[in-house]
Amino acid sequence: MSPAFENLSPDELAAEHARLQQAYADLQATGLTLDLTRGKPAPAQLDLSNALLSLPGDGDFRDGTGTDVRNYGGLQGLPELRAIFGELLSIDPANLWAAGNASLEIMHDLVAFALLLGTNDSERPWRDEPAVKFLCPVPGYDRHFAIAEAYGIEMIPVTLHADGPDLDEVRAAVADPAVKGMWCVPTYANPTGAVYSEEVTRALLALETAAPDFRIVWDNAYAVHPLAEQCAPALPILELAAEEGHPNRVWTVASTSKITFAGAGVAFLGSSAENLAWYGNLYGKRSIGPDKVNQLRHLRFFGDAAGVRAHMEKHRQILAPKFDAVLEILDARLGGTGAATWTRPEGGYFISLDVVPGTARRVVELAKAAGIALTAAGATFPGGVDPRDENIRLAPSFPSADDVRTSMDGVATCVLLAALEARLA
Ligand code: PLP
Repeated sequence: MSPAFENLSPDELAAEHARLQQAYADLQATGLTLDLTRGKPAPAQLDLSNALLSLPGDGDFRDGTGTDVRNYGGLQGLPELRAIFGELLSIDPANLWAAGNASLEIMHDLVAFALLLGTNDSERPWRDEPAVKFLCPVPGYDRHFAIAEAYGIEMIPVTLHADGPDLDEVRAAVADPAVKGMWCVPTYANPTGAVYSEEVTRALLALETAAPDFRIVWDNAYAVHPLAEQCAPALPILELAAEEGHPNRVWTVASTSKITFAGAGVAFLGSSAENLAWYGNLYGKRSIGPDKVNQLRHLRFFGDAAGVRAHMEKHRQILAPKFDAVLEILDARLGGTGAATWTRPEGGYFISLDVVPGTARRVVELAKAAGIALTAAGATFPGGVDPRDENIRLAPSFPSADDVRTSMDGVATCVLLAALEARLA
């Protein structure tokens, strides 16, 4: 472990700098090509679902209600699959639709429909407002921010704590009628692993907002993705929204992208009956119905909600050791140095690393020059700009456990070197 830099004399700092420069030169000399950027399942995780490739099988094309899944129709998706995910997400299946292959498409459409035509609670299309703004808990998911950016929605960063967004910041922001929405990843947030508490959740649902059509995009992408033995329970978000007096406030989405095949799974939309009627009217113009063959395949594969949980336990067995390896190396190399802090997520796909302010870009640059690809510094902030230049998203799911160890050891060297450079500057 490196010493805490603040306790070192100028001579000791210079010696430590020389030692780290040598360690970095040694790292570069090993000629690595490693990648910690991709928050996607490893091949071994995808293999867990290979049975899907031969489901539903020759001759199996009707669901429990007798629907022939080979034909058009059934806009809301297969009821039995909605029942399974309704149980997992604590949503009445009547309020949960099984859709296409990607929740990101649903989120995109919700925003695009609201901009073009307004929501069911809007006075006018959002595009006719003088400005449209979304709250963005940070650090957050870059693709949420990319949707907002693509459509000219102004993004307002709000601090994300371990139990959810900072309520004082949120309360102050929603006094502006231009604030129409908010991105939330309530369970094992990307990238910090934050899990929203019921208290914070209820407060978000109860907020008095200046905009009558304020919407929370409740992206539960990691609802059933624990790394710890116990999974955080899914709050019954639609029931809570109704209890807090704003039944139409929530658009919630999820998908099986990190349960079965990424990009070839099933996505879900949960919302109030009024919101679903609004969405369905527009979605029904865009599609005659979802891919029900894929939905039947997933239904047969899981069987029931317990089948999904059992399957997620197999993912956990593969993922948890990689996360443990990252944390072990961060603890061993950076603990006590003051050069970084990091989250210890109990689920999800990421670890959020905060380095010495002003050095995140430098760390990513040093790592790149040593053959270790890290997610671009700033990617976790709206517009790709981290005002403190300190946050780095670590994604250990895809590489092998050995590669995770090697990369993280290299990253630790880069973090220390960048911290010392900043101290000596
Ligand atoms: N939401 C979050 C928070 C994610 O991290 C991801 C993927 O990384 C997605 C959504 C993408 O989901 P989908 O594949 O269903 O579009």
